Amino acid sequence: MASLRKPILAANWKMNLGPTAASGFFESFLSRYAARADRTVIVFPSAIALSAARHAAQARPDIQFGVQNVHTAEKGAFTGETSVSMAHDAGAHFVLVGHSERRHVFGETDAQTAEKVSRVSVLGLAPMLCVGEKIEEREAGQTNAVVARQLRAALEGLVKQDASALAALVIAYEPVWAIGTGRTATPQDASAAHAGIRDELRSLTGAAGEAIPILYGGSVTAANASALLAAPGVDGLLVGGASLDPESWAAICSA
Ligand code: PEP
Repeated sequence: MASLRKPILAANWKMNLGPTAASGFFESFLSRYAARADRTVIVFPSAIALSAARHAAQARPDIQFGVQNVHTAEKGAFTGETSVSMAHDAGAHFVLVGHSERRHVFGETDAQTAEKVSRVSVLGLAPMLCVGEKIEEREAGQTNAVVARQLRAALEGLVKQDASALAALVIAYEPVWAIGTGRTATPQDASAAHAGIRDELRSLTGAAGEAIPILYGGSVTAANASALLAAPGVDGLLVGGASLDPESWAAICSA
């Protein structure tokens, strides 16, 4: 059965679309996508474009915003970093944590991911925790084990510290081999991985694990979004490349 949760459509712009381009994006996107009560739309612009993006979408409270990364310190000598409070002050409600590019390009560890999940939660923002296996791990039949390890590492501390914070948590299953490659998981692949994630969430968090949304991400396009959204256990989509074009993002948000 397809998910009964209200689908979440989330756009990860990565290091694309500065303030001027972000404003132009919303001018076009908002004319193509009317607010829908049965959808949650979230956009993660670059931190430097967040204010411009929010300003451009100010007439549309249905569009929510987040940042792509945070530092765990409150403030200080961390050149180039953004704190959770700063992100909150700039209007972010969500924070991407543990995205594959943070883990594999910037070397972020499971321990750092856990620290970020805790910090984001404690300060009242919602972490969108990304997990996913590399191609060699998939081929070795380790998908569920890798994802379970990433979930345990990121969430065990939070469960002990403040289980009520789990109410705001979102998980994104993003197989590394599908991100930006044009190679998408089939709806069946996504459902199988999401079922493993749901089991792990239940065992880690008990009843709270039932309600945590699990999004799929990895080469989602306007052409495959409907089939992925209809797959059992898929509660929404996290989209990179195809969210940069207002027309294709509007089509995905309407899928
Ligand atoms: C992502 O960056 O989270 C992502 C899923 O990228 P893409 O849609 O381009 O594969």
